[in-house]
Amino acid sequence: MDANRDARRLEEALPLGVLSERLGGEVVAPSDDAYDEARRVWNGMINEYPAALAYCESADDVRAAVGFAREHGLETTVRSGGHGVSGASVVSGGLVVDCSRMEWVRVDPEERIARVGPGATWRTLDSAAQSFGLATPGGVYADTGVAGLTLGGGTGYLSPKHGFTADNLREIDVVTGRGERATANAERNADLFCAARGGGTPGVVTAFEFDLHPLDHDVPYFESWLPVTVADGALREYRRYQRDAPDESCVFPYFATVPASPEFPSDRHGDLALCVAGVYAGDPDVGRREFETFRDRPDAFAESFEAMAYTDLQSMMDGDFPAGRRYYWKSVPLSRFDDDAIGDLRRAASAAPSDLSTIVVWPMHGAVGRMDESTTPLVGRDADVVVNVEAAWDDPTATTENVEWVRDTCRRFRDGPSVPGTLPNFAGGSESDADDVYAANAERLRAVREEHDPDGLFAYERV
Ligand SMILES: Cc1cc2nc3c(=O)[nH]c(=O)nc-3n(C[C@H](O)[C@H](O)[C@H](O)COP(=O)(O)OP(=O)(O)OC[C@H]3O[C@@H](n4cnc5c(N)ncnc54)[C@H](O)[C@@H]3O)c2cc1C
Repeated sequence: MDANRDARRLEEALPLGVLSERLGGEVVAPSDDAYDEARRVWNGMINEYPAALAYCESADDVRAAVGFAREHGLETTVRSGGHGVSGASVVSGGLVVDCSRMEWVRVDPEERIARVGPGATWRTLDSAAQSFGLATPGGVYADTGVAGLTLGGGTGYLSPKHGFTADNLREIDVVTGRGERATANAERNADLFCAARGGGTPGVVTAFEFDLHPLDHDVPYFESWLPVTVADGALREYRRYQRDAPDESCVFPYFATVPASPEFPSDRHGDLALCVAGVYAGDPDVGRREFETFRDRPDAFAESFEAMAYTDLQSMMDGDFPAGRRYYWKSVPLSRFDDDAIGDLRRAASAAPSDLSTIVVWPMHGAVGRMDESTTPLVGRDADVVVNVEAAWDDPTATTENVEWVRDTCRRFRDGPSVPGTLPNFAGGSESDADDVYAANAERLRAVREEHDPDGLFAYERV
């Protein structure tokens, strides 16, 4: 309530009419009917009251909004897809530069390049690239923003073959915290470019440019659902498989509660289970043979094997993570996926306070590990696997126990063989700072921030 009152006071004190006049887009203020909807993000746990939201429609709009924030000393956050799990794209008393209306994608099929507006989601980029039989590694949920996902590294089904999303970034256009427009790539503003490949940016990105790769066939996908009683053995088999897994293969086991849907036997509904799932990003026939090893397990109570269009694969989880639910996610890269880690995984999954929560084991082999470490601030490339602990719950009174479950679980993994730092897109809430996420690379990122945002306009960011 106080934050709401403060936001209204700020509205009265600020000349928001001036901002409206400078903007081709729209300004939403606390007294507007649209405000309550506008200040919300995907994660229902986030409840911030910004002084204003500037809906930008162009790079000029972004520059005007950043200029206004500088004139009035407003803490500034950037929102694009609005799916940031930590909720850092909105802050009470600050200005939200909202890029969601800058949703455009231009594909050059000859050069295999996509230029992408910051408001684009993976749904828009994937379908534009796929119309030319091309793709770049993205996240696994079509509604997430290309912007936030790329600036936080980005892992997806194509990562073993083509690296993190940020590894495929060629260039950005940005309005820096100084209010200046800049283009950054490997040659120009190389410090800014390197930071943007997973370490965020001290400003607002107004365009991204990505490398695209051929993907002009259906993609095999399988799921094999196993009772939790056989999970340890299945995860040990997975570990063996991963030792020689080809780059095309992305197999990711996860613990989840069996949904009450007809694909599953009714006596399993509501049970905790291990689902071993996988995608093959190469020749579909080779993929079918590759995944034979996971097929027809006598202990599986549900299985599916099919080849589908990449855009269908990318939309497969639509609806699984509804907006407005409460979420808290954190991850730990493990340097050794040993038997202790396997036991800890099963015990943590069994202790989850909410049956909407999952724990996912994400593979880290292939191109991710081959990338030159100095070209991005991301850590964990040498990890065996990354464990993502993903709490989801509806009851607002259950927040503490769910957040604590994630933190305790990650602490336990940290006590075992783990790599310092973590995947920025799964780094928990505002309590984890740059050192927790980027480890030895945090200092380098701070220097970039000081250079391009000396007044700390974007100080709410983790770095
Ligand atoms: C259902 C779901 C599934 C997910 N799956 C994956 C996955 O498979 N792989 C993966 O890597 N991540 C995944 N994520 C995490 C996701 O990548 C991050 O939450 C990401 O921040 C979302 O980006 P956004 O643009 O939607 O978010 P926003 O909330 O709009 O932005 C998040 C942050 O990104 C920065 N940012 C956004 N836009 C700009 C811009 N134009 N300029 C400068 N900074 C900007 C800001 O720091 C902002 O706080 C998933 C998230 C969800 C909710």
